[in-house]
Amino acid sequence: MGGMDNACECVDQEKQIFDLRQLLEISKSLNSTLDYNILIDSILYTCMAQMKVLKAGLFARKGLDSTCFSLHRNYQGFDLDHSAEYQISEEHEMIRLFTRKYACYTPAEVRDELGTLDGLECIVALEPSLLVPLKAKGTISGVILLGERIDEGEFDAYERELVLNIAVLASIAINNAFLFEMTTTDMMTKLKMKHYFLTTLAERMAIAFESETCLSIIMMDLDFFKKVNDTYGHSCGDAVLKRAAKAVSECVRSVDVAARYGGEEFVVLMTETDAEGAFFVAERIRAAIAEAKVEYDGVTIGVTVSCGIAMYDPARDRSPRALIDRADRALYLSKQNGRNRVTAAE
Ligand code: GH3
Ligand code: MG
Ligand code: MG
Repeated sequence: MGGMDNACECVDQEKQIFDLRQLLEISKSLNSTLDYNILIDSILYTCMAQMKVLKAGLFARKGLDSTCFSLHRNYQGFDLDHSAEYQISEEHEMIRLFTRKYACYTPAEVRDELGTLDGLECIVALEPSLLVPLKAKGTISGVILLGERIDEGEFDAYERELVLNIAVLASIAINNAFLFEMTTTDMMTKLKMKHYFLTTLAERMAIAFESETCLSIIMMDLDFFKKVNDTYGHSCGDAVLKRAAKAVSECVRSVDVAARYGGEEFVVLMTETDAEGAFFVAERIRAAIAEAKVEYDGVTIGVTVSCGIAMYDPARDRSPRALIDRADRALYLSKQNGRNRVTAAE
């Protein structure tokens, strides 16, 4: 944070100490979560409070293979034109400028440097007062946009240094959260991976035990899926599988964990949900998958799913394995009794 020295001659020492303490707090808070959504919120709120602005948004990569930065949906205050795409190409001259001269810029300063704002129409339309680049491991990993200040003044050099320091802390946290998200997500179905599910299940079972709250899981296996592959081919099978996974994620809350347990097997972990609640969700997933259709080479293909649900019972489920086995046996009963149905573990 040596950068703050140059800009702070006219700022009194008490304020500088206060701001440095704030930076430490911000660092602690940003490093306390790997949850991408929570992190973006906390970065934006921090910037808004520190810089006294009512609007803030963050452009970042959506996936490992993205070649542009997109406005994250947790933006604050900006009025968006929902027919427009809020994206900046990684190849844009402005990104090269940020890499070359890492600093905050007003749109006017970007124009002075580049001679034009072509390709940045979506940014110009948001009328930002300042663009703050995010930089992790030497490359630009995103941009924070700040709206106008509450007092409508301009940012001085000290404030620019401060927000750039916040951006450096934010970049590291975003980079970590992004990598965590990518390495725990199954790329094909966009559901969480089995290992992540097992780790989270163990953690949440411990919490449920301590707090004496309910926890339930749903195990699922697509019906006669081999037949889909054999009849229409493997890539059609993949499309059907992806569609079913989408139906699963659309039926669960964001606090639930929906994971790909195996090839065409899914699992959902739900906290504060009893057997009745889990049965209800499973039934909703079953119906959603039965209704979802995939168009492939002019043919309409559907699939059904069999589900087994189990609620955590501390007396019987001494390990995550025991709970999973009970849900698995219930799933097996669904298969035996004709498939496309939900069975609760006894
Ligand atoms: P059941 O109703 O008894 O579950 O019948 P099933 O045919 O679905 O049997 P099972 O669950 O044992 O077989 C799963 C099949 O799913 C076998 C495998 O070829 C296929 N499968 C697993 N993962 C994938 C995948 O990623 N893509 C495709 N296309 N097929 C997969
Ligand atoms: Mg299977
Ligand atoms: Mg199956």
